[in-house]
Amino acid sequence: MAPLPTIKHEIWLNAPETRAVMDALTVDGGEARFVGGCVRNALMGVAVEDIDIATPTPPQDVMRRMETAGLRVIATGIEHGTVTAISQSKPFEITTLRSDVSTDGRRATVAFSRDWKEDAQRRDFTMNALYADVSGQVFDYVGGIADLNARRVRFIGDPAARIAEDYLRVLRLFRFHALYGHGDIDADGLTASALAKGQLKTLSGERIQKEMLRLLAADAPVPVLRSMAASGVLGEVLPGELMFERFQALCRVDGDNFFAPDELLRLGSLISDEGHALDVARRWRLSNDDRDRLIAMMTTPVKIVSYMSIREVRRALYRYGAERFKDLVRFRWAEDAKASNGIQWRTLLALADGWVRPVLPMSGGDVMSAGVPHGPLVGRVLSEVEEWWIDSDFTDDRLSLAERLKAVVQATV
Ligand code: ATP
Ligand code: MG
Repeated sequence: MAPLPTIKHEIWLNAPETRAVMDALTVDGGEARFVGGCVRNALMGVAVEDIDIATPTPPQDVMRRMETAGLRVIATGIEHGTVTAISQSKPFEITTLRSDVSTDGRRATVAFSRDWKEDAQRRDFTMNALYADVSGQVFDYVGGIADLNARRVRFIGDPAARIAEDYLRVLRLFRFHALYGHGDIDADGLTASALAKGQLKTLSGERIQKEMLRLLAADAPVPVLRSMAASGVLGEVLPGELMFERFQALCRVDGDNFFAPDELLRLGSLISDEGHALDVARRWRLSNDDRDRLIAMMTTPVKIVSYMSIREVRRALYRYGAERFKDLVRFRWAEDAKASNGIQWRTLLALADGWVRPVLPMSGGDVMSAGVPHGPLVGRVLSEVEEWWIDSDFTDDRLSLAERLKAVVQATV
């Protein structure tokens, strides 16, 4: 067997805030190791987002150790053995080694343990069950290194049994394959997932949302999404007719232009009408902001074409704001078969980014000075002038504004 690799040169591993947490866990003979995504990503050369730590120390002791070291600590999921330490404003999730005693497909009853191998075996995929100590030495109890090198997302143990413990693992299989897998999805995992699809309705919206949005943010999610659809899994979490073509084109534009994936925009690109968007927002328990943005993608009544004039662009921006405008530009771009229009579409996005909302250089006070009595008429006259001002491409010529005001007042009062 090849010697186990090390990740000792990782910047996050050697950062003072990380060391502070590891030191607190390991003084007086304590043990602690990095686990999960941070080790996996370090070995793959992918950016590490958050740091998970495993330790045989019981959670109450972990809390005490953090407090003694002067670190803030939150009892995030202490009944499952997880606490969050905050070190230099960065969160570190620390989970006590455990074995899952019984599970009902959603929640686990846990027993704390001192056995690293036992802890590895309750995890989902072999590449997610790799540990590294503070010196960067990697530990592998489940053949995770070989799978990681082959970019194979493989369940630890029997896929059907592991899925029955927690149905979220079906979505995690697709998510991790989209992010880190090569080639086809593991056949046994896929078969077990298809068989378990009927149970996905028991999952909470928050958990579905989290996995699915991360899947949608992958660089190339299309093949995985198609395989989810073919296996019947997608229909359980995202029912209704989906616009795969547009989604695929949007992902291609992202790749061609080095745009950071925007998962909500990608979700929107799959959906074609307001009712469908509302259903998804409800099922996935999207935040109100996300729901409103999704709905705006379906309902904003503005015609956007690659050959829009600057004037039309400014008007649309003023009416709907830069975010909605850009979302719609991205959709129309994805629907545009003509690749050479890319430069025009990019220009529209740049115009939106550089846009500063103009302010109508007139107030209710001006309207009253022009002879309109205090009351609802003031607002009505003001919006009449505003309409004209928008049509004038937001002129700042005070004289013509004053003349327009006069004309509106004469016709109204
Ligand atoms: P990332 O944070 O990049 O999404 P991750 O692998 O760290 O990837 P997390 O969701 O943060 O994923 O979980 C941390 C680790 O906890 C995983 O690597 C895995 O070992 C374990 N884990 C998380 N969720 C499950 C689950 N539903 N079933 C089994 N093990 C899980
Ligand atoms: Mg993680």
